[in-house]
Amino acid sequence: MPNVSFIPHAAARVSAVLAQLKDYLGDKVSTNQSVCEAHSHGEALELARLPAAVVFAETTEDVSTVLALCHEAYVPVVAFGAGTSVEGHVTPPEHAVSLDLSRMTGILQVNAEDMDCRVQAGLTRQELNIRLRDTGLFFPVDPGGEATLGGMCATRASGTAAVHYGTMKENVLGLTVVMANGEVIKTGGRVRKSSTGYDLTSLFIGSEGTLGVITEVQLRLHGIPEQLSAAICQFENLEDAVRTAVEVIQAGVPIARVELMDDVQMAASIRYSGLDELRPMTTLFFEFAGAPASVREQVDVTEVLARDNHGLGFAWADTPDERARLWKARHNAFWAVKALYPGFRVISTDCIVPISQLAPLIVGVKADIEASGLQVAILGHVGDGNFHTLIMTEDTPEGSAKALELDRKIVGRALALDGSCSGEHGVGVGKLEFLEREHGAQSLGVMRTLKVALDPRNILNPGKLLPDGLAYIG
Ligand SMILES: Cc1cc2nc3c(=O)[nH]c(=O)nc-3n(C[C@H](O)[C@H](O)[C@H](O)COP(=O)(O)OP(=O)(O)OC[C@H]3O[C@@H](n4cnc5c(N)ncnc54)[C@H](O)[C@@H]3O)c2cc1C
Repeated sequence: MPNVSFIPHAAARVSAVLAQLKDYLGDKVSTNQSVCEAHSHGEALELARLPAAVVFAETTEDVSTVLALCHEAYVPVVAFGAGTSVEGHVTPPEHAVSLDLSRMTGILQVNAEDMDCRVQAGLTRQELNIRLRDTGLFFPVDPGGEATLGGMCATRASGTAAVHYGTMKENVLGLTVVMANGEVIKTGGRVRKSSTGYDLTSLFIGSEGTLGVITEVQLRLHGIPEQLSAAICQFENLEDAVRTAVEVIQAGVPIARVELMDDVQMAASIRYSGLDELRPMTTLFFEFAGAPASVREQVDVTEVLARDNHGLGFAWADTPDERARLWKARHNAFWAVKALYPGFRVISTDCIVPISQLAPLIVGVKADIEASGLQVAILGHVGDGNFHTLIMTEDTPEGSAKALELDRKIVGRALALDGSCSGEHGVGVGKLEFLEREHGAQSLGVMRTLKVALDPRNILNPGKLLPDGLAYIG
């Protein structure tokens, strides 16, 4: 532990570091007010705080320079990808540097025969897939928005395609990471498996910028399926829809996507995305992928299960344009709800349970929602047992308190069913209060030991992911 009495005040330290950073990195360092404002928050606007400066890294060496200097001076650094995280992940502490990786968009290597590639961490998933188009390969993890691959690693992202292809955890083979003191390490490699040593790649996946800054990612790629078909099926009853999705998974159908939107969400999405042919009823969105014979078989089984659960028939979207329209509406679900009541806050929950527990959980949650008197939409990646509620509330302390009370009830139900408080959004600061209950004090103790070993000065995104994290030396 350093002798803090010899460390100048945080504001003085950060100005000294900014002067050094400008010497090394020139106009990659910005203190412009609007640039700082854009880096003061992710999607959780209410948690905003300005960084002292934003550094736009272009290479691993730039990142290493920033961390070495900030480490030396005890200045906190918050890695910033696209800022789409929803739990206050990228909100800086006071006197911090926001380290933006969005200029690091290179594709360094595509090994088509081995179905892998190496990219810089600021590349977005959409841009990667555009640039891979001619190879017949694609990267499937799809959190919806324009997230960076580094941010997706750092939050262990998943999304609509995880039911078939897995999450970032299953699709990252290796990383280049800059450690808190500026040292650069490589983890993993190009092989599909290895039994040598601790799995450092997995350690950084989901670490939310608290253990190191990822600058390069080695990704698994997948072949573009021969046939893709999308369909929707509507239900009078929420539980019937959930049961259908669960039975599709239990029957071993290798479904590409199965997403649920309840009646409240559908009413919002019909209005926002012009889905006028649909009714405001609980709806399952399906995607089937594979060889034509396999797709036919998957569809047959799914249609029977939906019919047995009182589904009201399948409507098909077979052309690429129709499919894109449906999935765009699904991906815009959050914005559709936001547009219902301009000026309201929308608080998103992100529970996951073992799939057999999903129907009882959602029934219980629906009862909690009714008792709360709040306007709430339910949607989710139900094939994984993962769903969100979007709680709409007036942006007042009373409104937020009521919404958070409901959030806590929902999380409590999920944890009681062996679930988790976040299937994909991560901890940030929004989920800190649930971690001890989910993991236990001993496991949290091990996480703290790792944090102290890798970031002894607590400069990497301090205050996130670990409850009662080490105090920043201010
Ligand atoms: C409408 C909406 C829908 C969403 N749907 C989904 C969904 O379906 N599934 C899902 O998983 N998520 C979803 N998200 C959340 C979000 O898109 C993901 O968390 C995404 O992975 C964040 O990526 P980003 O580039 O925006 O990261 P940021 O928000 O910039 O950063 C997120 C965290 O990662 C850290 N970080 C960023 N880059 C690096 C790096 N290179 N090295 C180390 N740490 C880094 C940051 O410090 C921060 O802690 C949704 C968000 C919105 C707004």
